[in-house]
Amino acid sequence: MKNIVIFGAPGSGKGTQSDLLVKHYGFDHISTGDVLRAEIKNDTDLGRTAKAYIDNGQLIPDGLMIDILAATYDALPKQSGVIFDGFPRTIPQAEALKTMLATRGTAVHAMLELDVPDEMLTERLINRGKVSGRADDNAETIAKRLAVYHTQTQPLIDWYEAEGLRHAVKGYGALDDINAALRAVIDNIF
Ligand code: ATP
Ligand code: MG
Repeated sequence: MKNIVIFGAPGSGKGTQSDLLVKHYGFDHISTGDVLRAEIKNDTDLGRTAKAYIDNGQLIPDGLMIDILAATYDALPKQSGVIFDGFPRTIPQAEALKTMLATRGTAVHAMLELDVPDEMLTERLINRGKVSGRADDNAETIAKRLAVYHTQTQPLIDWYEAEGLRHAVKGYGALDDINAALRAVIDNIF
């Protein structure tokens, strides 16, 4: 059972690349963004709480997010591996993931980082907003999300580097080339 964290800024292509990896390897996929958007769509208590943060470009508080992640993980069929997409986004979340997997007799085996310059991220998210209908894909919220990424999420790069788990790939160019680079990392580890 492989546990892979796909990491990157908002709009870096985590979801797109995760889907391609799922197709290729048959991994399970946890996208915390998708989990939260489903809760919002179903108008649950959790969805209403999450919406207030997401629409404002903020992160959902760690304690809540960690509980959601654990419940989602435990409900997976868990075939050949799991891709964590959108989690962890803070150092406490990374520590919680490490503990959660350790208590289940496993660990994160790789962190795959998608590197994309900020100007490109903004352009991608603005364009996505025209078709996604996502309330957080507007210029003002995008700027907030990128700022939150740089202050709260980017420190995880050094954290995973120190764990010896970080693998960075260029996150722009042809989708297939990016995916080939990710697969090369995975095939080299396992
Ligand atoms: P990408 O385009 O690379 O998939 P994204 O910025 O669109 O990235 P999602 O993963 O779809 O982001 O998440 C959307 C929002 O959900 C985040 O901006 C945040 O408010 C909330 N969220 C998702 N995952 C987490 C998390 N691990 N901790 C806190 N909040 C989260
Ligand atoms: Mg996503």
